[in-house]
Amino acid sequence: MLLGKVLLVTGASRGIGRAAALMAAENHAHVIINYNKSEEQASELMDQLLERGLHSSMIRADVSSEEDVKAMFKYIKEEHSRLDVLVNNAGVMKNSLLALSNTELFDQTIGVNLKGMFLCTRYAANMMRKQRYGRIINLSSTAGLNGDAGQTVYSANKAAVVGFTRSVAKELGMYGITVNAIAPGLIETDLIKDIKAETREKILSNIALGRIGTPEDVAKVILFLSSDLGDYVSGEVIVVDGCQIM
Ligand code: NDP
Repeated sequence: MLLGKVLLVTGASRGIGRAAALMAAENHAHVIINYNKSEEQASELMDQLLERGLHSSMIRADVSSEEDVKAMFKYIKEEHSRLDVLVNNAGVMKNSLLALSNTELFDQTIGVNLKGMFLCTRYAANMMRKQRYGRIINLSSTAGLNGDAGQTVYSANKAAVVGFTRSVAKELGMYGITVNAIAPGLIETDLIKDIKAETREKILSNIALGRIGTPEDVAKVILFLSSDLGDYVSGEVIVVDGCQIM
């Protein structure tokens, strides 16, 4: 499905990003694995792909640092000369009630989840405009659509992803670039490992499909939007939550 495409996944060392990178490589994209702190996991993924004869490369960049993002895109330009798909996946989440949320938490969260997305999209769009082709996929969250107590800062970031996605989709459509967001519900990754058992049970009881999502559930939608199957889909937010009833 992605033969000949070059695809960058930010935060591909773990969780959803890792599953998306793996699935894209299995569909014959050249995958660029971005990571920040988890070098071992990123290397392990790249080795796994290379052993299977699939194509990938890896690059460390903190997406909240403009210097790092600039260097990452310089590398992509020099090594690949093009970028077909950008998956803005890197994200952090720290649950905190509003009264206990300090500006440090706010700045850290917005730095990765929003500034990182803004920077990567700006650099990627420069390449994609010239190609007159591109696919940009941003990770939002159902928390950004519905809000959640204890997730004020995170929800605000993920809601902003939706406005950002729709605006960029309108701006870049004329260049053959689609821009979409995915809003996952509860997905089994490190991000949710600190959620209390009783909270998990409560959420689970409200999921019509009766199970917590897997990273692969989200990766399948990323694959769809990355491929020609999603050619006429842009400015959308696709919810992947197993139908959360409440
Ligand atoms: P994980 O915690 O499992 O993985 C997060 C990934 O983001 C890691 O690969 C990490 O890389 C990377 N990352 C974090 N900070 C940076 C940074 N500054 N620069 C580059 N990479 C960074 O999270 P998930 O896979 O669960 O989440 C992926 C996305 O999906 C996030 O945007 C999240 O908000 C969203 N999402 C997740 C949901 C869930 O239930 N899991 C629900 C809704 C949305 P490293 O370890 O190398 O630093």
